[in-house]
Amino acid sequence: MRILIVGSGGREHALAWKLAQSPKVDKMFIAPGNGGTAQLGENVDINDDDLPAIAAFARNNAIDLVVTGPELPLVLGLKETLDQEGITCFGPNAFAAQLEGSKAFSKTVMRAAGVPTADFEVFDDYDQARAHVDERSMPCVIKADGLAAGKGVVVAKTREEALEALDEMMVKQVFGAAGERVVVEDALIGEEASFLAFSDGVNISVMPSSQDHKAVYEGDKGPNTGGMGAYTPAPILPKADYEKTAEMTLAPIIRHMAKAGHPFKGVLYAGLMYTDEGPKVLEYNVRFGDPECQPLLTRLDSDLFEIMMACVNGTLDEMSIDWNDETSVCVVLAAEGYPKSYPKGMEITGLADADAMDKVKVFQAGTKAEGDKILSSGGRILGVTALGADLSSAKELAYQAIEKIHFDNCYFRRDIGDKGLKRS
Ligand code: ATP
Repeated sequence: MRILIVGSGGREHALAWKLAQSPKVDKMFIAPGNGGTAQLGENVDINDDDLPAIAAFARNNAIDLVVTGPELPLVLGLKETLDQEGITCFGPNAFAAQLEGSKAFSKTVMRAAGVPTADFEVFDDYDQARAHVDERSMPCVIKADGLAAGKGVVVAKTREEALEALDEMMVKQVFGAAGERVVVEDALIGEEASFLAFSDGVNISVMPSSQDHKAVYEGDKGPNTGGMGAYTPAPILPKADYEKTAEMTLAPIIRHMAKAGHPFKGVLYAGLMYTDEGPKVLEYNVRFGDPECQPLLTRLDSDLFEIMMACVNGTLDEMSIDWNDETSVCVVLAAEGYPKSYPKGMEITGLADADAMDKVKVFQAGTKAEGDKILSSGGRILGVTALGADLSSAKELAYQAIEKIHFDNCYFRRDIGDKGLKRS
């Protein structure tokens, strides 16, 4: 089988690494890929939003399956574009991808499906949104409806902050069309966790729980990033609770989308907030999280290609998917300054030494190969991932592996997994 993976981050390196282990996969292309994916297949110079180029490449290279890491291609209609060519795509169609692409759609589906979530209202009109914020209690959360690269959510403590967010989104249109519509919702307080599942449109198979670290600094301080590290399982969502949590947060959405005539096939990701009243859904993503994907896939014992084909073919209920019982911790090494401005082009050394350690896997993200060197090319550069019998040993091993890796202006959080350690 010939696979095309779309994307360029650590998640896509992990997807390529796991798919390469399938005896059914003969050849892999990654568009555009990174220094890590170049070692597993052929990188092709196509951007993730260039659907015509992705489809043409897939057609001309006899691709059997296209897998996308990021959401944008799915939201833009990658599945439909590939359907026209008769090429199989792992992931939902554009209608179902609105679960991530439109916060108003997502919240409305949650309400209709009876999923616990923060109470909310949707506004297309700036004056009405202002009047609502003037009347409601604070804090509240203002969300741009469309995709805004993780910057479209403002947790406003005061009325002034909320009004400023409305002004930025709806009047100044800093996120373009993504901010023409906004969701205003209650602020939830608690600890966050990620809960992902494979779905074939009818059946779901949950993955172990995980937890991301979005803020740039230790103790969850500073601005949000794409994710500074993740680990699995997350003790806040123990295995004994997977079934009931899935029945509350994931299964109702799968049933709702099937009834709407757009069965959700792919990975459904629920971002949960553990409040005093129990878990509530903050958001859905329609793909693996980055970095949650990296530690999750190191725990997957089954063949990822077969799982993806079972999702596409509607046969997930015939498969048993095995996850090992270890704990996996992924620490992101970033360039100092990220998520604001940061230097690029630093040479990375020690990668092979770290990768050679037992139970360690280094996933590359913002890297490119130049001759026999690996240079940094992005803000999040590596995801050093280690397995252990428990969280403390996996964490210790990940940080030992990091000591072998060197590049100028390296920055990473030293507290990945600490929230889980406090609970275990
Ligand atoms: P974008 O569309 O800009 O990429 P996103 O998908 O990252 O945004 P969300 O995941 O919905 O947006 O929200 C980002 C973060 O904001 C959450 O991880 C959470 O920390 C915080 N957040 C979102 N909704 C709420 C809420 N109701 N209460 C408290 N915090 C919230």
